[in-house]
Amino acid sequence: MAHCVVQEAEAILDREFPVLDTGFIRLVDYLGGDERVVQAARVSYGAGTKGYREDEGLIDYLLRNQHTSPFEQVVLTFHVKLPVFVARQWVRHRTARLNEISGRYSVLQEAFYLPASEDMALQCTQDKQSRAAEVLDREQAQGICAAMAAAQKRAYTEYTDLIEQGIARELARINLPLSLYTELYWQIDLHNLFHFLKLRLSAHAQKEIRAYAQVLLQITKQVAPLSCRAFERHVLEGVSFSREEFAEIKRRLGLSQGAASKARLEGKDLARFEAKLNTRG
Ligand SMILES: Cc1cc2nc3c(=O)[nH]c(=O)nc-3n(C[C@H](O)[C@H](O)[C@H](O)COP(=O)(O)OP(=O)(O)OC[C@H]3O[C@@H](n4cnc5c(N)ncnc54)[C@H](O)[C@@H]3O)c2cc1C
Repeated sequence: MAHCVVQEAEAILDREFPVLDTGFIRLVDYLGGDERVVQAARVSYGAGTKGYREDEGLIDYLLRNQHTSPFEQVVLTFHVKLPVFVARQWVRHRTARLNEISGRYSVLQEAFYLPASEDMALQCTQDKQSRAAEVLDREQAQGICAAMAAAQKRAYTEYTDLIEQGIARELARINLPLSLYTELYWQIDLHNLFHFLKLRLSAHAQKEIRAYAQVLLQITKQVAPLSCRAFERHVLEGVSFSREEFAEIKRRLGLSQGAASKARLEGKDLARFEAKLNTRG
């Protein structure tokens, strides 16, 4: 079977999809698409693509049953411009290959991420890693954004001063803030990209990396729409339950008997369970 050409993916190659204030994602290249997933899955009995409906069913079956290796046959390369604090979260995903701009080799550009004032929030009191849902008073938020912008300007001026004094680029850069933009070439296969998206589209992930994950998913839909549909159906919008939660569901449906019907989820476990039901409602 020949090289897979996906017209929808060809149409967006090299196009910059904006993310945050001045970040972006570009699809640089791709290898395979839904057709490649199907070919790989059917290689054992030599039957190629059979038709859209059958292929869609096969892809859905593979994803639902975690037959993941055919999805590894599809590879995507992205060019991403992202703030350093997002890149630090991004590079924890070890199953990708990447190249990043070198601050030792080149002078870094003056490009910093500044949150919009409506994104400025207090620390969340319940969840230690998140921001509170309520937005700040507009004037206070604008004041904080202005102070952040001034600090970024100061840090970059100090950086260029050091460069002009002939200080090594690898040293001059070390006081630059986490809001500095960096750029990566990032290559990953579709199975591991889905794993990345599952974690980084979650409400637990930081808003800024979620914004990148949303754009990655939109781009990936152009390369492998049926695989993405199955991923959304079974992973992103599907839910798994613990043994105790499952018992609670059966109890509520009147399907459990005896001691099991009396077993109750309590406290935080019950709250987590209700939240799970409600977010999917
Ligand atoms: C909301 C959120 C909060 C987080 N908070 C923190 C935090 O506070 N501190 C922190 O340090 N990290 C944090 N992380 C990062 C997290 O712990 C993972 O490192 C990250 O999500 C990458 O996941 P992964 O290892 O499954 O992915 P990948 O590195 O892409 O790996 C995919 C899978 O391959 C296997 N694998 C890959 N490499 C190895 C290996 N060397 N050995 C064994 N198995 C391997 C594992 O099964 C893994 O699940 C957070 C992540 C999220 C989504």
